[in-house]
This record gives sequence, C-alpha cells and structure tokens, in this order.
Amino acid sequence: MPELPEVENARQVLEKALDRTITDVDDSDEYVCRPHRPGEIAKALVGGKLTAAHRKGKTMWCDTVTADGAAGPHLGVHLGMGGRIRVTGPRGSREGDLAGGLPRKENERAQKPEWDRVTVSFDDGGSLRLFDKRRLGRVRLEPDLDALGPDAAEIGRDEFRARVGRGTAPVKARLLDQSVLSGVGNLLADETLWQAKVDPHRPAGEFTTDELDELRRVLRRATRRAIEKGGVHTGEVITHRQRDDVCPRCGAPMERGTVGSRTTWWCSAEQA
Ligand SMILES: [Zn+2]
Repeated sequence: MPELPEVENARQVLEKALDRTITDVDDSDEYVCRPHRPGEIAKALVGGKLTAAHRKGKTMWCDTVTADGAAGPHLGVHLGMGGRIRVTGPRGSREGDLAGGLPRKENERAQKPEWDRVTVSFDDGGSLRLFDKRRLGRVRLEPDLDALGPDAAEIGRDEFRARVGRGTAPVKARLLDQSVLSGVGNLLADETLWQAKVDPHRPAGEFTTDELDELRRVLRRATRRAIEKGGVHTGEVITHRQRDDVCPRCGAPMERGTVGSRTTWWCSAEQA
C-alpha cells in the first residue's frame, strides 16, 4: 500500500504532466471519480493545463489553469491501495511509471486498458493515467485537505511534540492517525519505531520532549531514505517482519502483534 515515500515518488512522476495542453479526459469511471458525474472533470480541465503537483501525506493534487489562463480547479489524485501514476511523453513515448511501493509483478506487463481508471490526454500525443487494478484510487476536483494533519516529512518540532505526544493511545496508533500527521502507513511506522528502539505499545502521552524530538528525527530520516530508495519496502527491518526471523540489529527474535488495529512487528529485546 502506498505510503508517503511512494506517493512522493508518484508526485515526481506527476510533474512530467505539467504545462501540457489537455485535449481529453476519460473520467467515465464513476466510482474512481466520485462524486463527479462522467464528463464533469473533463469539462473542467479540457483546454487547460496542470501547472504544479503537490502532496500532503498520501494525497496529491495539481494546480490547473483554464484555456484562457485563469486559475482552474485543483485536481486531487489518491493512489488508494495500489494505484500507480503513468505519464507518457510526446507521441506516447515512455516518461514515467510509478509503482505503489510494491515491486512490479510480471503479469502486470500484460496490462488491461480497463485498469487505466482515469486518462488525461495531451495535445502532444502523451497522456497521464491512473493505473489501478484494485480500483481503490481516486481522482476528484477540489479534494478536502483540511482533515489531514501536517505532512510527516515536513512537520516541525513543536507541532510534532504537541500532536503526537499526547493521550493514552499506543505511539504506533498515533503515528498512523492521518489527522495527527499525514503520510505514515503501517510499514513506515514499524520501520521508524524499530530504528528508534521504541516499543510500539507505549502510550504516546508518556514520551518526554527529548524522546519525541528523537522520534521525529528518526521518522524524517526513515521517510527520506524510503523516498530515495523507491519505497517503504526498502526499510532495514521490513524483510524481517516474518515468523521465525530475527532483528537485523541485535539478533533477538522478532515479535508480532496487533497495535492500532494493524499487524505490527518489533524486536523482542530492544523494543520491549
Ligand atoms: Zn533488536
């Protein structure tokens, strides 16, 4: 499932679609394009251009201009559980292809066109597509960003202390709560807590200021690394999240449980 690093990589792919004149939008998938009716997104975008690609947590959106150069609506894009952004260059040449953090599977090469849920065509012959087998991604105008907490890669020290370091919920649940801070998913949370040697069950409100500052530092570093390496699956502890495996740092058995209603793995010695 795409987390902040995968979505940031997708946003970078989306940038290849900027400043190209839109000639057509296939927005006929009423589920992916809800609450819009077919043709509504097309009507808002055709003749105009995407001008900037932004991201907050796992949500992306583009600024747009209309055909006469006025500010257009924001175009929101969410990858859901496994969507990818694909952008082709002039005359359809390949420019960008982004996986949702999961290694590309062989059978996806035989791509069915129906897995392109939304297609934006440009006057140079290229296109932007949301490729999504599971159909859980979403494209919509004017996405609501207010419910999302600050982006996990950018949240400041004081804000992190105030938002994360409170309450009786386990720290892992706090990190996963998109209204507290946005972008952290299950794997990035496990990687961060392992890197920080923190017990995922520990109530967030018990952390000292120094511990919160350290946790933020570790989270930002783990996020940055995952962006550079292409996804959260590249984290150091991720491949050890399995039965009969050991901590790659100290050799103690890895332990499994449910925290924040998600399957969680931690080092039985260092995170107890
Ligand atoms: Zn360990």
